[in-house]
Amino acid sequence: MPRVRVNLKGKPSDYGLHPWIFKDKIKGVTGQGFEAAVFVKGKFFGSAFYNPEGKLALRFYSHDEEDFTAGLVYGRIQKARKEREEILGFKGSYRLFFAEADGMPGIIADVYGDGAVIQISSFGAEKLKREIVEGFRMAGYRWLYEKSNSYARRQEGLEPYEGWHYGEELAGDLRVKINDLSFRVPLGGQKTGLYLDQRLNWELVGRVMAGRKRVLDAFSYTGGFTLHLLKYGVEKVIAVDEDVEALNLLKGNVKDNGFNVNTVETYRANVFDMLDSFVLAHERFDSIILDPPAFAKGKNTHGAKRGYFTLFDRALRLLEEGGLLAAFSCSRHITHELLQNELSRAAKRLLREVKVLYRLHQSPDHPIPVYFPDAEYLRGFLAIVY
Ligand code: SAH
Repeated sequence: MPRVRVNLKGKPSDYGLHPWIFKDKIKGVTGQGFEAAVFVKGKFFGSAFYNPEGKLALRFYSHDEEDFTAGLVYGRIQKARKEREEILGFKGSYRLFFAEADGMPGIIADVYGDGAVIQISSFGAEKLKREIVEGFRMAGYRWLYEKSNSYARRQEGLEPYEGWHYGEELAGDLRVKINDLSFRVPLGGQKTGLYLDQRLNWELVGRVMAGRKRVLDAFSYTGGFTLHLLKYGVEKVIAVDEDVEALNLLKGNVKDNGFNVNTVETYRANVFDMLDSFVLAHERFDSIILDPPAFAKGKNTHGAKRGYFTLFDRALRLLEEGGLLAAFSCSRHITHELLQNELSRAAKRLLREVKVLYRLHQSPDHPIPVYFPDAEYLRGFLAIVY
């Protein structure tokens, strides 16, 4: 039995199955601990992580009466695995837990072959970490690495943490296959190693840009887009990122997949400066990919709008007639409308004809619960420019 009993104001339908409850909705608390049995109108309503210090007081891991045990984690792994492998057909590497979307509040888990990387950003999950680790062992994962460095963690009063739980000796030089391509996975790199949320977009963008002569992959990281462009016969890719380690891995990935290393040029640079110098030098590309980091961390999107306007303006100056532009945003406050609006402002100034062919989203191993639309964060488009 959970140890804290929390009574909420109002009635169950005020809440639905939304995974969060803020402090101001709490009527009373009895007992102590960080697992709560939540009641509404005197009736059991759910089991949640309880953070007495935080504004975000309750984060539901279940609407049944159950403790957060290794057995529960094991069950969630089976459910999530089935969704990813049997329904989506993802093999070998995918996001297994997308936190609240999988009933695992503040817990992200990315599977890479026979092991996984977890990120913990909720107070309750931090306290119950032993159960999580045990659940992964029970489910047969041979190694488990933790990379808990998110901003959300600070908001819950937790320090960053990174390290091995078990199986370090088995992980070795990690490589995985995604969309038939081999990727090196740097556990010490960005995110959990790879931007798995782009998996379907890598494939789609590669397919639509197939056979192009000269494509710019701006904010390339380790080459998710670059590798797919090469797979689809693009003749030359220019990859730009400020992270030199990422560019070294990109070159390694190009080799591992047996592509000609001369088809890729890499530049360690600030993309904004690089775009300016390309414009000055009258360079031309027949397709451009822009996949920057989150420009807007909070609700204020002003700086982000300016950033996107600049990127779109430069991209339109560099694109040839009939060129393709794929652009992305990974902050949840930036909507498709906002992105498209900045694109339209840039197009208007340069009098270019621009048509959006596809609106793009995070891959479906990052699902969006209807009660929790905040889980939607990655948006983009693929447009044709004349
Ligand atoms: N497209 C990649 C993911 C990109 S993540 C993929 O699909 O795998 C964003 C990348 O932008 C990171 O690699 C980061 O190092 C890089 N970055 C951030 N700001 C930058 C800047 N101003 N100039 C160049 N690279 C930048």
